[in-house]
Amino acid sequence: MTARGTSAQGNTGLTSARVRQRMVERVRELGIRDPRVLAALTAVPRHLFVDAALASRAYDDCALPLGHGQTISQPYIVARSAELALGAMVAPKTARVLEVGTGSGYAAAVFAQLFGEVFSVERVRALHERARVNLRPLRLATVRLAYGDGADGLPADAPFDAIIAAAAGVEIPPCWAQQLAPGGVVVAPVGEEQQQLSVLSKDRHGQWTCRRIEPVRFVPLLSGVIAA
Ligand code: SAH
Repeated sequence: MTARGTSAQGNTGLTSARVRQRMVERVRELGIRDPRVLAALTAVPRHLFVDAALASRAYDDCALPLGHGQTISQPYIVARSAELALGAMVAPKTARVLEVGTGSGYAAAVFAQLFGEVFSVERVRALHERARVNLRPLRLATVRLAYGDGADGLPADAPFDAIIAAAAGVEIPPCWAQQLAPGGVVVAPVGEEQQQLSVLSKDRHGQWTCRRIEPVRFVPLLSGVIAA
């Protein structure tokens, strides 16, 4: 599955494949070495996921505002989360992955390049609907968007080989662990002011381990939904 850099906004200098490649180089310099992840970042035109007014900054490696007090994830963080999930998988191309916090849909599009099926849940209805519009031109048949409180996971579609969160809770909700397939992992930021990107996994003997990877800064995981 590939996504090409054509869009309604055109293939101008600021949104061209070359600028995107520079962003990927920057992410590589920050330590992301998995070629599958770098190829996925190269394939997804991030400018389709930001406001037209911000398109010129779409390939800076930073978070950008989405409205509703939320931000599109920083490419490095999307890449790091994907790399950590991939590291735990034997067969990513058949893996079922849940993303909590669809936001713009950008990370879901990146994950769709790497995993078999991507479910993504968002609690703000307006963002959920915009993500659907943002994703449409990419025709990613394996991405399924859901509107709801991802703190509950997505029980109807469980089990998942990985649950990747784009919002930080004070702890990893126990139901996420319950919705993992054997050998599955949760990749999630944990904490309030001080957050750590964390990986929760269950080994063959049913033993849970939680590894702290690095300090990060995500928006909070909130409960309930916003219907407006
Ligand atoms: N991955 C997104 C980043 C979005 S920011 C992107 O690439 O654009 C995090 C998102 O998590 C926000 O849109 C926020 O509304 C959402 N969120 C926060 N708590 C949530 C919850 N309990 N369930 C679902 N989504 C949640």
